[in-house]
Amino acid sequence: MLIKAGLLIDGTGSAPRQGCYLSLENGKIAAVGREGDFAGLEAEQALDYSAYTILPGLIDVHVHLFLEGISDPKARAGRWQETKEMTLLRAANNAAVTLKNGVTTVRDLAGPGGMSLALKQAVEKKVLTGPRIMTCNRAISITGGHFHYAGGREADGPDEIVKAVREQVKAGAAWIKIMLTGSVNFETGNAGPMEFSFREIQAAVTEAERFNRPVSAHANGVQAVRQALTAGVQSIEHGALLDEAAVDFLRSSPAYWAPTLTPFLQMLHQGHFSPQTQTGLEQVYAHHCAMVRRGIAAGAKIIAGTDAGAPGVQHGEVWRELGLFVELGMSPVQAIASATGLAAKAIGVTDTGVVTAGKNADLLVIDGNPLGDIQSLRHIVQVYKKGVGII
Ligand SMILES: [Zn+2]
Repeated sequence: MLIKAGLLIDGTGSAPRQGCYLSLENGKIAAVGREGDFAGLEAEQALDYSAYTILPGLIDVHVHLFLEGISDPKARAGRWQETKEMTLLRAANNAAVTLKNGVTTVRDLAGPGGMSLALKQAVEKKVLTGPRIMTCNRAISITGGHFHYAGGREADGPDEIVKAVREQVKAGAAWIKIMLTGSVNFETGNAGPMEFSFREIQAAVTEAERFNRPVSAHANGVQAVRQALTAGVQSIEHGALLDEAAVDFLRSSPAYWAPTLTPFLQMLHQGHFSPQTQTGLEQVYAHHCAMVRRGIAAGAKIIAGTDAGAPGVQHGEVWRELGLFVELGMSPVQAIASATGLAAKAIGVTDTGVVTAGKNADLLVIDGNPLGDIQSLRHIVQVYKKGVGII
């Protein structure tokens, strides 16, 4: 199969190209070139996307497939009362919505045990339609810690943490997720106390390393991020309360940073809070944006995670996060790389995320030019997952 692209943004961060052709074979990109480069394939027979832009299928590095972005607190609380069967059906729908929106790979970073793994297998066996799923299975927190109520694995002390890590590996987790702080308290403007001790973080990282599993840390405050980086985690989630020195420390570490700005902005617009909380949220969001701006300017490895499932964050809306990255100083080409090529490296899926020969034919065809308007990523013409059209 030969495809003609109007504009090609290959996900590597390099300059876009016009008038390219792609050949696909057995679900992979066989070659990228110009008209006449493809022996045996006639340019006239190419699938004509010359009016559109082609880029790699998007990668959302931080989602919760079991949950939708319900913003009303009462309705959200009601979701916790539903049966696990109902939750799983909703999760299957969320996976389908994700893929239809052009997201061909996700990293699921916490949900009820076994659910995201069942989804992953169902997608692989073609029982369901959905993105490729990398998952941590259950997130590990202290007893009563962050998100424990959403199927988290509570563990206290290095020995129990070692066991909790092994349980996730046994179940099939590709990542280990640890919760180091709570949600940001918008009234006080802080992340509360550290939940795990440094020894416990080290235990998690060391044990995960033995099984070749990277660790992702939910961490908002300076202390949590510094301890996580010192212990050697590969991915920092949120980091909403960093200071300049912590951003610089993050920049100089090998770790990736998914700042997940989208849920903060969505919460800001929903009006479910008291005036005092709303003011605190505005301050936290403004600070977070300033630190992300600093990280972008310094060249920190910032990747696109929407926290889909968080209040107000629907599945598949990566364009929101990328729009914010661009507002904070990232070039559109870099922003796209943060949700494609760079994201693929970050989460360890090196066979996708860029449009080059030999990679999976995970592609997004859009109507518009995201270099001029990043939100044109919403105008989806077609999504290919391993060469198969979804729409
Ligand atoms: Zn999350």
